[in-house]
Amino acid sequence: MVPFFIDGLARKERCFWIADDRTVEEVKTFLHQAGIDIAEELRRENFTIVTKRETYLQDGEFDPHKMIGIMAGVLADAMSKGFKGLRSSGEMTWALGNDKGSDRAMEYEALLNDFFPGKPWVAICQYNQKRFEPAIILDVLRTHRYAIVGEQVCPNLYFEPTQMFFGRCTDRAKLDWRLEQLKRARDAVHALEQTISARDAFFSVASHELRTPITALKLKLELAEKEAKKKSEDTPLLRGAIEQTARLEELAKRLLDVTELRSRTLALELAEIDLSTIIQSVTSRNHLLITRSGCNLKLELNPVLGMWDKSRIEQLIENLLSNALKYGSGKPVTISLVSRGKFAEITVEDEGIGISPSDHGRIFGPFERAVSKDHYSGFGIGLWVVHQIVEAHGGTISLKSALGTGSQFTTLLPCNHC
Ligand code: ADP
Repeated sequence: MVPFFIDGLARKERCFWIADDRTVEEVKTFLHQAGIDIAEELRRENFTIVTKRETYLQDGEFDPHKMIGIMAGVLADAMSKGFKGLRSSGEMTWALGNDKGSDRAMEYEALLNDFFPGKPWVAICQYNQKRFEPAIILDVLRTHRYAIVGEQVCPNLYFEPTQMFFGRCTDRAKLDWRLEQLKRARDAVHALEQTISARDAFFSVASHELRTPITALKLKLELAEKEAKKKSEDTPLLRGAIEQTARLEELAKRLLDVTELRSRTLALELAEIDLSTIIQSVTSRNHLLITRSGCNLKLELNPVLGMWDKSRIEQLIENLLSNALKYGSGKPVTISLVSRGKFAEITVEDEGIGISPSDHGRIFGPFERAVSKDHYSGFGIGLWVVHQIVEAHGGTISLKSALGTGSQFTTLLPCNHC
């Protein structure tokens, strides 16, 4: 509720909280703890905290029509005082009491659906699931366009317009409404799917288009470096430029990874390869990155033959290695490869910042990161790609790590040909 009201105050809306499940003092404490100067907001009447006796049960009994009349007066008063709108929330536990008319709460909720449209008023009704019977919550779902479940705002498929809730419409009208609701939900998902696929298409084109000039630029710079070396000229600037273009190339490749992996499951091109050769070629291709990281790379490789997709396995090793170098705090990094029965076991180990066990599950998901972007650059897709590659090969990946103790990623890949 607190962010809802902070937003209302910022928009110069008059805020009301009808407390019942909690006391007025408790509500004040929540708001105060969230940084709202609640004493001042109350004094200026930007915020009002009231009880059921001052609102729903003013004369000791509840009358939905009378309550809606009170609300119309409250709205007119707020608008005449220059507020931009209203924001309110009611704790509905009063409806569980024995006061006369308290059994008419759902009738009131249904009538509100004719009151609110077109008015500058946003309201949230609070129904405590621990206090209300499921049968009542089911009616709550029938009378509210949106349901906030936990912290998620959900468009509510079970909502019924006022006349339908009161049973004043034919089965045909009811059915048409329900089918329309299903279509609306489907259309909303469809619109999102289209937006996502347009974004993916853009990423894919952008990535391809970027890679061509970057590769050409890198080649030209390497040529220039060769020429300079022939003349025994020192070329630190050119070296720097080459390293930066290599980084650009890498970023463009990552963009492509995202779109490729999102749009289809990985199609593998299997061929017999020796994993130790692959690891060696990936590490020598990345010698610049290794030198720059300050990490000492140790390889403990035994030849292991199997049927794998060479370029995907290269990508897997490259991603795990670049992470070990990036998060390895300049300390030694070890890649080992051994045969374990019908599996090849690749371990990439560093002695760097480590990963808290509570983050182990999520970091293999897309765009998930466990470090601040101010300290470490990255998109959070490297491990996701690794996970997809491992799964596509029918393998597994596990992680041993804790904060400050380094990380050990162990990949088991079935050799398939054995
Ligand atoms: P990125 O490195 O671009 O953030 P990754 O998907 O490769 O994305 O990794 C996800 C997250 O996992 C990283 O942001 C980091 O928090 C954590 N991580 C991955 N590898 C390591 C490692 N070797 N040491 C510490 N943290 C790591």
